[in-house]
Amino acid sequence: MPEIFFGKDVTDWSVRRINKLFRTHDESHLWPICGEFNVTERAIRRLRKAAQANGATAGLEYAYALNQEISHIILTTLNGGTMYTLSEECPECGSDEIQVIDRGRNEETLKFENRCLCLTCGHDWHETEDDEVNHE
Ligand SMILES: [Zn+2]
Repeated sequence: MPEIFFGKDVTDWSVRRINKLFRTHDESHLWPICGEFNVTERAIRRLRKAAQANGATAGLEYAYALNQEISHIILTTLNGGTMYTLSEECPECGSDEIQVIDRGRNEETLKFENRCLCLTCGHDWHETEDDEVNHE
């Protein structure tokens, strides 16, 4: 498992410092959230509530939880997801708990590209659709 988030080793970091790091890298302006709300702030609030009930975490454990919560919020925003990955399984860990989290046309190849996320290990990757696939 990587211990690096956004290029930083957060092992001994405080919750406050990790929050700041994730806020800096927030992508709420991108699809599918498109600026409707701030994903990072929502995830931080949820973890704060969870900490009141279950006790606080910090460092790596907190960073993983925050990363997972952000992914979870993004995926539920997709309303159950009508989009399916082309890959059968995660190339990193082999899990089949994978989902498309973004989609767009490559300006150079004019092919559609999916960005996929593994729900098990958090690995994300791109895959390209073949031309004969019906996009409607
Ligand atoms: Zn995986």
